[in-house]
Amino acid sequence: MSIPFLNFNYMHQPIKGEIMQAFESFYDSNWYVLGERVKQFEAEYALFNGVNHVVGVSNGLDALHISLLALSIGVDDEVIVPANTYIASVLAVSFVGATPVFVEPRIDSFNINPELIEAAITPKTRVIMPVHLYGQACEMEAIKTIAERHGLYVIEDNAQAQGASYNGNLTGSWGDINGTSFYPGKNLGALGDAGAVTTSNEILAQKAMVLRNYGSYKKYYNEVIGHNMRLDECQAALLSVKLKYLDQWTKERQQIACWYDETLKEYSQIILPKLAEKATHVYHLYVIRTQQRDALQKHLAKNGIGTLIHYPIPPHLQNAYKHLGYSAGDFPITEEIADTSLSLPLWPGMTQIDVEAVSQMIGNFF
Ligand SMILES: *Cc1c(COP(=O)(O)O)cnc(C)c1O
Repeated sequence: MSIPFLNFNYMHQPIKGEIMQAFESFYDSNWYVLGERVKQFEAEYALFNGVNHVVGVSNGLDALHISLLALSIGVDDEVIVPANTYIASVLAVSFVGATPVFVEPRIDSFNINPELIEAAITPKTRVIMPVHLYGQACEMEAIKTIAERHGLYVIEDNAQAQGASYNGNLTGSWGDINGTSFYPGKNLGALGDAGAVTTSNEILAQKAMVLRNYGSYKKYYNEVIGHNMRLDECQAALLSVKLKYLDQWTKERQQIACWYDETLKEYSQIILPKLAEKATHVYHLYVIRTQQRDALQKHLAKNGIGTLIHYPIPPHLQNAYKHLGYSAGDFPITEEIADTSLSLPLWPGMTQIDVEAVSQMIGNFF
């Protein structure tokens, strides 16, 4: 038996003809950077995400970086980030010279706990950056209420949750300006690096557009010090094709998660992912927790089942963030998640038989 952690085949093979056609049309256009294909994908993704503006950029990290720059966040500012997140959310804060301030998640949802945010706010706080981790929407109403009460901006890190919603509104449409990633393994993945900024604020969208392109409104006229963080025409063309299938793939992810829920619930040694009230989950990852994580992972690997840990070392304990002065024990819930969580195989195309095989192998271990 072999069930890989991720398998692109079932997503990519059926649409190969369409992808090749899009590539050929791009190829024949002889236009490679900031053309019609980027514009078209931006319009399509804006429609998908329920926002007025999308700015295609080079990757998810750059989307968050540009979002912070567009809000003029910099040195002496603090940005509240979840302690339990992928390092990129934190790196973006560092790249503008601001200081990340970590807030613990709820152990059930893995997402930032709004009840702990206010205690982390100081006179230097400018932004709250919720991350819709593993594909589940954060408690956006509570977060927005706190932001409004304290005059803070909200930037959503929507890299893992394209299509998720909280109380009926899509992630990536709540914040002032937000970032998402089209890294190949994300729910909507390019065939290489890509990302986008999403916002309904026209001024912020303009700023993001200029910042991704050398700070230039008009070729060779530079208004601000910008970057080269553009989305490629080629990736935009391929993303337009894949976007059409995203809803279908999301439904498949949700069905697979449902099969896991059903088949794993009998094992008291593992804790299954829980949905917060009013939140939907698009299952970028299906993350279980168990005290015997490392042994279980070994057992599954030995039997041909691929799993990963998201993430083994939380940002506050990474060498890159030694200078912040945190040590083990400072964020116990985050550390507990790092020590006990295991992401099971989940990809569109996975069958009920695959899921049952994984679950049986887990049962066999316990
Ligand atoms: C993937 C990811 C990013 C970064 O996206 P890239 O396109 O890889 O730069 C940021 N935040 C989270 C939560 C992610 O999962």
